[in-house]
Amino acid sequence: MSAAAWEPVIGLEIHVQLKTRTKMFCACALEYGAEPNTHTCPICLGHPGILPVPNGKAVEWTVKLGRALGCAIAPRAVFHRKHYFYPDLAKGYQISQYDEPLCTGGRFVVPSHDGDLEVGIVRAHLEEDAAKIVHVGGAGGRIGGADHSLVDYNRAGTPLVEIVSAPDLRSADEAKRFLQLLRQTVIELGISDAEMEKGTLRADANVSVRRTGEQELRTRTELKNMNSFTFIARGIEAEIARQIEVWESGAEVVQQTYDFHADTGALTPRRTKEEAEDYRYLPEPDLVPVEPSAELLERVRGELRELPGARVRRLEAALDFETANGLVTSGRDRLYEAVAATGVDARAAANVLMNQFAATGVAPDAVDAAELAKLVEARDRIPRAAFLEALAASGEPGFSADRYLADAALTDTAELEPLVDRVLAENPDQVASYRSGKQGLLGFFVGQVMRETNGKANAKVVSELVRAKLDA
Ligand code: ZN
Ligand code: MN
Repeated sequence: MSAAAWEPVIGLEIHVQLKTRTKMFCACALEYGAEPNTHTCPICLGHPGILPVPNGKAVEWTVKLGRALGCAIAPRAVFHRKHYFYPDLAKGYQISQYDEPLCTGGRFVVPSHDGDLEVGIVRAHLEEDAAKIVHVGGAGGRIGGADHSLVDYNRAGTPLVEIVSAPDLRSADEAKRFLQLLRQTVIELGISDAEMEKGTLRADANVSVRRTGEQELRTRTELKNMNSFTFIARGIEAEIARQIEVWESGAEVVQQTYDFHADTGALTPRRTKEEAEDYRYLPEPDLVPVEPSAELLERVRGELRELPGARVRRLEAALDFETANGLVTSGRDRLYEAVAATGVDARAAANVLMNQFAATGVAPDAVDAAELAKLVEARDRIPRAAFLEALAASGEPGFSADRYLADAALTDTAELEPLVDRVLAENPDQVASYRSGKQGLLGFFVGQVMRETNGKANAKVVSELVRAKLDA
């Protein structure tokens, strides 16, 4: 009866909104948060007789993403109409891709503690998003109990890439880590903001369980409505537990779609899942097939940088897996490398970036690595409050670490005086020389005091103090 006798099988379906300037099949501008229904035209409102024109940039970016996911790029991809009714779909069909998608057969590597987790990418295809429905009057914006619903067509026709993974994930944690690394990849490609809170990255999970050792897949369910990494992991865990309970009670899991409610932890059935034939797919007669040119494929290949997964593995050598993974998936690894390259202690740099720096919310791109390195180097010599203040300011244009370090230096004469007295007492010969005219020895005394304070003292204050004592 233990959960250990069951093996979860999970695949993800991920929708990524592309941040192109205009929509997928019309020239309407894409603007998140704009006044509702201000970016519409007959094409994205689905009027009769309209002719869609594909967005070339969206095709290019999908090819780019496909390449990053190790997919084969189809020489010829076809748009299909996927028919269904919903108030957010004015045409009664979504233009999507069906049996001839743009990208197929990829492989995405997620580094983990114990080797690489390899996740197959079944396909990545290009389609259009539906409009956005806002339910008014109900609890938590849900349809149940709502007085009425509003539709905002600004979102209708937004380019969407749908990525379908193979059922290669074996735990909620693996699903979460796969999604986090995929998101970082998308962001680095510069094709989407991929923000779950805004809905520009959305993930559904297909979940089933089977007895450990079973080869066949059992009936799966689909989980929707999960808008954070934490909720996705919790939703999958809840569904795994539910299915194990169903099987162990002697009943059968039914293929169905569930909403996960993060507030209560409850799973509520949505509808029985449609099969592909229900959608009456047919080739979109108004669009010619997409045939990516050799020039495009070549250019995209040249634009791909080292992928996040590979960078985790590379950084892991000097750090540890968790820290390397944290740096990469938070987009701080390039800053880390630049700071470490100055010669400052690498682990200290990584720790500061993952803790105190992360807490400031400063964008890594805004930071001058050489200046940040000075702060990391001085972190134990200056008061903690001054260190945090300097970190918080490190993203400001023209930020100078020196100014903060000087301000944070030890200036309290009550603390410095005993040190000065001791240095003078320990060096009677030099004191005598100074007093007989060798004024140049002042620097020697100041240096000794600075060393006593590990460089923390304000040199100007020390100098004045030493001179006053010697001249007394
Ligand atoms: Zn439009
Ligand atoms: Mn889709």
